[in-house]
Amino acid sequence: MDQLIDSKKIENIIHDFIACSPDNSLMNSGDEKAWELPLVGYSSGNDTLYEKFKQYVGPFFMTPQEIFAITFRDISVKAEELTVISWILPQTEPTKFDNRQEIVYPAERWARARIFGEEVNVKLRAHLVGSLASLGFQAVAPVLSPQFSTRISKKYGFSSTWSERHVAYASGLGTFGLCGGLITAAGKAMRAGSVVARIHIPPTPRPYTTHTEYCLYFTYGICGKCMKRCPVGAITKDGKDKEMCLKHLFPGTSEYVTKNFGFDGYGCGLCQTGVPCESKIPLKKDG
Ligand code: SF4
Ligand code: SF4
Repeated sequence: MDQLIDSKKIENIIHDFIACSPDNSLMNSGDEKAWELPLVGYSSGNDTLYEKFKQYVGPFFMTPQEIFAITFRDISVKAEELTVISWILPQTEPTKFDNRQEIVYPAERWARARIFGEEVNVKLRAHLVGSLASLGFQAVAPVLSPQFSTRISKKYGFSSTWSERHVAYASGLGTFGLCGGLITAAGKAMRAGSVVARIHIPPTPRPYTTHTEYCLYFTYGICGKCMKRCPVGAITKDGKDKEMCLKHLFPGTSEYVTKNFGFDGYGCGLCQTGVPCESKIPLKKDG
């Protein structure tokens, strides 16, 4: 079967879900939407970056070909027959506005986006896999696969077998900031998702030459505002201390969310809001 598909068709499936599905909800009294319209990018299954991620992060990191082969054991495919579809779900303005006001714990909308918004992201992954299947294309959402798990990387500490942010970087959607978040055209206040499919779509050009190009600290030695936003000092000139961050999330923010907002959740994102890279690729003058 011809594996060619128009990228517009993929984008329409993703956009329509976020624009029209009642699932795109913060599940609050106003039933506000969780996400703005997504950005979408593509990378080839044989992009050399995927092997590099494995080398950097650890042998447990799965390449697109590995996750596809484990999922579809009866089908033999070459890496170049696969396309990784990556998307960015930008936070809404009310969610960002609320979180900008916070100095220790997350705003309710932010915590809702972390929990109920991620459930939307899960549904979007499954929806895209199902939509592609109905068109005759095999696809898998790596983070929904039983193969997905969190691991400890010798170099990077807490890691996992697939990284939505790294995939988005490979798919031309953004570069990393000092705090470890991915700075995209819609900023860093977002969540990412992806699907590996046996289709051919030309890769999205990566309009950057380094993996940290959009961060003002790495490019110009200025800004560092995410360091000041972190309530527990987890971000320094050396980057983010994932363990310190995690200690703030659990039990600190989880207890706070349950007590104050009445649902089981957690979140923080203070380093993603109230900073020059929150909603756009920052300019030097913003630092
Ligand atoms: S706040 Fe500044 S230093 Fe931190 S990631 Fe954004 S641009 Fe880089
Ligand atoms: S590094 Fe972690 S604890 Fe610090 S602001 Fe960011 S999310 Fe919050």
